[in-house]
Amino acid sequence: MPLKKQAKPVKKPDAPVKKAPAPINLVRGMKDILPADQPVWDLMRDKARELSQAYGFERIDTPFLEETGLFVRGVGKLTDIVEKELYSFETLGGEHVSLRPENTASIVRSYIQHGMLNLPQPIKLWYLGPMFRYDRPQHGRYRQLHQFGCEILGEGGAVVDAQLVFISWLFLKELGIEATVQINSIGTPESRANYRNALVAYFRTRRNKLSEDDKKRLVKNPLRILDSKDPAVQELKAEAPQIVDWLDEDSKAHFMRVLEFLDELRVPYELNPYLVRGLDYYTRTVFELYANTTDNDLAQAAVGGGGRYDGLSEVLGGRPLPGAGFAMGLDRIASLLKESNAPVKSEKIDVFVAQLGDQGRKRAFSIFEELRKSGIPAAEAFAKDSIKAQMEIANKRGAKLVVIIGQKEVLDGTAVLRDMDSGTQEIIDVRKVIHEIHKKLPQIEAH
Ligand code: AMP
Repeated sequence: MPLKKQAKPVKKPDAPVKKAPAPINLVRGMKDILPADQPVWDLMRDKARELSQAYGFERIDTPFLEETGLFVRGVGKLTDIVEKELYSFETLGGEHVSLRPENTASIVRSYIQHGMLNLPQPIKLWYLGPMFRYDRPQHGRYRQLHQFGCEILGEGGAVVDAQLVFISWLFLKELGIEATVQINSIGTPESRANYRNALVAYFRTRRNKLSEDDKKRLVKNPLRILDSKDPAVQELKAEAPQIVDWLDEDSKAHFMRVLEFLDELRVPYELNPYLVRGLDYYTRTVFELYANTTDNDLAQAAVGGGGRYDGLSEVLGGRPLPGAGFAMGLDRIASLLKESNAPVKSEKIDVFVAQLGDQGRKRAFSIFEELRKSGIPAAEAFAKDSIKAQMEIANKRGAKLVVIIGQKEVLDGTAVLRDMDSGTQEIIDVRKVIHEIHKKLPQIEAH
């Protein structure tokens, strides 16, 4: 569409000076993943895909936006995630929607909605993407976080729990991060209810030692007291009833089998009787992963977690369906990787295409496209006019060969091919550029 010619503004000599608008910055708790950060993110994305595929998981992408009711029912009304951290709003059409704070509820919704029950079970799904929690931003805690996760639906055996713990641990290990698994069983909703009563009875008699926050937790979500960082609670916890003593026989046997598998797989784990995880949907196995690092902040923040959620499907209106999964916190893992100077992907190229003059630039454009199509890693700097500047870039990128097209080459139907190592140049037929490069590259690599 032709642009309308705009009338030149008439400059008034005494017009007030317009103030430049203030720059717009990131929304609090959000971050950019800049090009310099991408190699580390690529490592994680590639490893997630590789391991998921190797263990027979299929990719699923659910929307970022869901009905708020999905999380209120699935994750639990009185959990921190739903009570304090949900990004919820009403749409113009009056729907109550929320940005997903996690992905398990969405995946179970998708399973029910698409009748995955009729497919051969179990259904193994993996995902990678952003989640949103209106949490207090601080080191390692963002309002848009990124998770890689795996879910196994339709199978209740202990081997599934163990396999998920193993894969989450392996994901870290293969990225070069040694981690320890903390694991616990929180039994069935019934055994947990009995335990909850015992816990409330214990802390009620010691209520005067609790902070205001923990007093509230005692009423609303007593198991969360076990997560309290308050030193008084830490002390009281030592004598508090432990959930293992309240487990039903089936859950106990299930837990033992999970641990036996982990022993077999040589996954380092610690039993943590206070680990309950914040979400309502967990049953039986719950676990978290902590990196073995000397950085205190990073060591104290879990880099992943998961567990079994056999009751979730029914809460969401589906049939009874056993399920288990994990989610890895990629933002924290990225920090660990950056700290350990993990090897990053090389962005080295084989060939650089340099040009001089308008005609040269046009021809170089099509040569670059031929190189790309034939799979040769190549780079260009078409916006640059000076050959010197282009050669500097070629050098920096580690090009082995440079194709140079100037005015003369365009007229002659030739190209200059320069070997960057030896500095030798030869003139070749422009139609044979790709052929010559294919011939020369293995010779250069053999040296
Ligand atoms: P969760 O299932 O809530 O334990 O989350 C799984 C993992 O996601 C955690 O172990 C963290 O590594 C990561 N995670 C959770 N919340 C945040 C956040 N607000 N910012 C960054 N990472 C997070």
